[in-house]
Amino acid sequence: MYADYNESQATVRESIAKICSHFPESYWLGIDNAARWPDEFQQAIAKAGWLGIMMPTEYGGSELGLSEATIMMQTIAESGGGYTASSSVHMNIFGLSPVVKYGNEEQKKRFLVPLIDGKERACFAVTEPNTGLDTLKLQSLARRDGDDYVLKGSKIWTSTAQVAEKILILVRTTPLEEVKKPSEGLTLFYTDLDRSAVAVTEIKKMGRAAVDTNQLYFDNWRVPAADRIGDEGQGFKLIMHGMNAERVLIAGEAVGIGLAALRHASRYARERVVFGRPIGKNQGIAHPLAKAWCQLESTRLMIMQAAKMWDDGFSSGEYANAAKYLAGEHAFTACETAVCTLGGFGYAKEYHVERFLREVVIPRLAPVSREMCLNYIAEKVLEQPRSY
Ligand SMILES: Cc1cc2nc3c(=O)[nH]c(=O)nc-3n(C[C@H](O)[C@H](O)[C@H](O)COP(=O)(O)OP(=O)(O)OC[C@H]3O[C@@H](n4cnc5c(N)ncnc54)[C@H](O)[C@@H]3O)c2cc1C
Repeated sequence: MYADYNESQATVRESIAKICSHFPESYWLGIDNAARWPDEFQQAIAKAGWLGIMMPTEYGGSELGLSEATIMMQTIAESGGGYTASSSVHMNIFGLSPVVKYGNEEQKKRFLVPLIDGKERACFAVTEPNTGLDTLKLQSLARRDGDDYVLKGSKIWTSTAQVAEKILILVRTTPLEEVKKPSEGLTLFYTDLDRSAVAVTEIKKMGRAAVDTNQLYFDNWRVPAADRIGDEGQGFKLIMHGMNAERVLIAGEAVGIGLAALRHASRYARERVVFGRPIGKNQGIAHPLAKAWCQLESTRLMIMQAAKMWDDGFSSGEYANAAKYLAGEHAFTACETAVCTLGGFGYAKEYHVERFLREVVIPRLAPVSREMCLNYIAEKVLEQPRSY
């Protein structure tokens, strides 16, 4: 428990840790080895009502803040589940914030209730193969046809599309050449992931094997206009609303993994005796662990500050970007330090830290790269000329 938590935050941490205690690290090792979706875990979180932590109470949520949601996600990752555990619920926690803020009453009832109940899972499709981080250049198109839109294009890196029933997808309804500003002409849909029109192919990747990531191809995919969120052409604005919140959440998860790695490494350094003394007696081992703790704890405090500011209505991105950047870097260093502390055993799967190291590369790349976080700070805080 942390001294800076208020009562509601402490309750979240305690309750989530209790659920996680039923899913020991041996469970997560097995899940990772088998590359199997952690259904039991996701259902346990749903059954206890936590998928709705940030959702309005009238649809079954508990309407807590980003601060509490970040604590929830840090605790899940820190339990030893890492990104495998947190990514199995991550999208459901923050992803539907455009529906909460901009959806109509009928949509909120239809979409939020089954998501919070754990009956429907959502994936999030923004990134495209040809445009990478340059979201405004998205090429997938939707054309209006009666009561439907017809979608054609491709997406990449869509996590959980193997298991999701629903998809939040951003596409162009007006080609880039025809809009006044590139941020116009993009439209957001939350709809059924219709597998008869969408080919979903898994990308084999370095870590988090149990939570799939995919390339999608779609042609002649009919999506009801009733599944459009907000106005046509305004999708970019809608999707931006959740972006800073997602950065804070992913930062909390990264710190959780770093702390899990540090827990393993500290215990090992106390217990492993070489040259007649515990290896932790060597400052070459103890100091990198102490440094990792200082870095993770200062990052955690900044994450909590960024979350509080978001909850208070602060809409600018410098704290969310800085927290996400620091978390990615320091969690990576903590995991690398842990592997080195365990020496050869750090490389063995049964000691868990190699799994954390493989997973902790993710927050350096996604949902936005560390370079783009620094671009934001350089431009918006330090008033440097835009570099791209
Ligand atoms: C495990 C994983 C899960 C993901 N899940 C999802 C998901 O569910 N949904 C989704 O939509 N996306 C998802 N993504 C995509 C992610 O959010 C990133 O957008 C994506 O990884 C960007 O990759 P890219 O290779 O296309 O980047 P590119 O745009 O090709 O960039 C490649 C490199 O160049 C750097 N770079 C590019 N432009 C600049 C610049 N101007 N200044 C400095 N550096 C620059 C980048 O920082 C990066 O290091 C996921 C990615 C991963 C790895």
